[in-house]
Amino acid sequence: MARYTDASCRLCRREGLKLYLKGERCYTDKCAISRRQYAPGQHGQRRKKQSEYGLQLREKQKAKRIYGILERQFEKYFEMAERRKGKTGDNLLEILESRLDNVVYRLGFASSRKEARQLVLHKHFTVNGKTVNIPSYLVNVGDEIAVKEESKKSEKFKEIMEATASRISPKWLEVDSENLVGKVTAIPTKEDIDVPIEDHLIVELYSK
Ligand code: SF4
Repeated sequence: MARYTDASCRLCRREGLKLYLKGERCYTDKCAISRRQYAPGQHGQRRKKQSEYGLQLREKQKAKRIYGILERQFEKYFEMAERRKGKTGDNLLEILESRLDNVVYRLGFASSRKEARQLVLHKHFTVNGKTVNIPSYLVNVGDEIAVKEESKKSEKFKEIMEATASRISPKWLEVDSENLVGKVTAIPTKEDIDVPIEDHLIVELYSK
């Protein structure tokens, strides 16, 4: 499947905030946004006043970049969110957070969502005991996500667990770092997202 290939830090600088796309580097002072707080490119340092449409578009781009999702899939998630009961914006964020690759990242079993996607594709995880290699798989309350027995012994997971040891998982997830098992205990909410997304701007954009 096609993915963004632009340098990750440029995407953060374009949005003007940390999107946490590069794993543990994002939590250090090597983070590019801490050093250069302006958009990339020749005219990046010019201040531009954004139109209402521009703000709405940027917010959608930000959400897509955080979760590494392309346009068509994002549209599908929006349609799904509209069909659900409740507020469309809240539903959209809940769907995005429920993706398996995001959950793996949130549990600290990957240092970034990008790495989580790769690990899921390479069949390192089970959901309720069954191998799942679909990054967009949506988890439900009560689901148990585990690193496969054979993968637990690998150096890769030892390194990841060391690197993510200081991270705190959101309250809707329960993590057993010893056994590399996690459980979804609640529905994720907007407050659980590490980067603020103004979902109402995205809803306004699609309502035009
Ligand atoms: Fe780069 Fe991560 Fe900092 Fe973004 S948050 S600029 S991806 S280091």
